[in-house]
Amino acid sequence: MELESILLPGISEQRPVVIAGPCSAETEEQVMTTARELANKGIQIYRAGIWKPRTKPGGFEGIGTEGLAWLQRVKKETGMYVATEVATKSHVEEAVKHHIDILWIGARTSVNPFAVQEIADALKATGFDGPVLIKNPVNPDLELWIGAIERIYNAGIKKIGAIHRGFSTYDKKLYRNLPQWHIPIELKRRIPTLPLFSDPSHIGGKRELVAPLSQQAMDLNYDGLIIESHCRPDSAWSDKDQQVTPDILSYILNTLVIRDTHQTTENLTELRQQIDEIDNELLSILAKRMRISKEIGQYKKEHNMPVLQTVRYDEILGKRISEAEKMGMGNSFMKTVLEAIHEESIRQQIEVINQ
Ligand code: PEP
Ligand code: MN
Repeated sequence: MELESILLPGISEQRPVVIAGPCSAETEEQVMTTARELANKGIQIYRAGIWKPRTKPGGFEGIGTEGLAWLQRVKKETGMYVATEVATKSHVEEAVKHHIDILWIGARTSVNPFAVQEIADALKATGFDGPVLIKNPVNPDLELWIGAIERIYNAGIKKIGAIHRGFSTYDKKLYRNLPQWHIPIELKRRIPTLPLFSDPSHIGGKRELVAPLSQQAMDLNYDGLIIESHCRPDSAWSDKDQQVTPDILSYILNTLVIRDTHQTTENLTELRQQIDEIDNELLSILAKRMRISKEIGQYKKEHNMPVLQTVRYDEILGKRISEAEKMGMGNSFMKTVLEAIHEESIRQQIEVINQ
């Protein structure tokens, strides 16, 4: 995939790229108040759901097209870029008509290839060129996630990002959606140029988890965060337990520890050199052990003794494994190493005997 940067003009290149705003646009006042507070905290991209995919009917299903005008006002008055979720062809058409800058595909949509294809076709027809962010599907299926990304890419969009929002689970314990970190990590390995966002609000489902989950994402080298923030979280019309005020959000962002990827590799050079030296020592010690083993082979040959002496081997294995354990190494590790060494010793002794 030949992707282009999702950093629209003026967006800071510093990690993390932050998208923040309410789960849903509720009223013009709530949208504007939250936006002003976030802009004052330096947030550059504002999110708000206009069409809300709710699990059951009867809940607040989003304000609809009317709210797009509020987002346009946010853009005009605060200078922030605006982002919203699209799930159908008409959502795409309306969003593009109202100059929404960034679109995302929700978890309940990326699960459905027909829906994603409909969105991809609509994007192509409108000429929208991104960024488009694709949330992981609700079920832990990496191929389905990649499939959704490919459908959008095939529509000619090169500014693409992925959002990790966790995976549905029957038993809700600590998390609302299980992170299953290995899935986004594998996604990053498969498409290394794809910017990866974490959505700690939907993974955690509660305010207290936003900070630790954001830190975890930063430690795993994610590029960005999408966090739900509301001027009055307790009275939010959707996802109230997981939204934080712009003040709290700013505090969370300021306390994140961002490890510098370049710096760490530089500091590692010295340690890596030491590893290289130790590996060389290991090699010469192993070669020395093999030489002695061959001498034993020679002795066995001269005295007509069998090569394999299991009692001695068992003794060695038991002793070394317990010594290794005392030094903090797992016993199966030491067993594997010794077995491999022993196998090579035997092979070399047989060579000597047959000479
Ligand atoms: C949202 O971002 O508000 C949302 C509905 O998220 P998800 O698709 O991850 O459930
Ligand atoms: Mn939400």
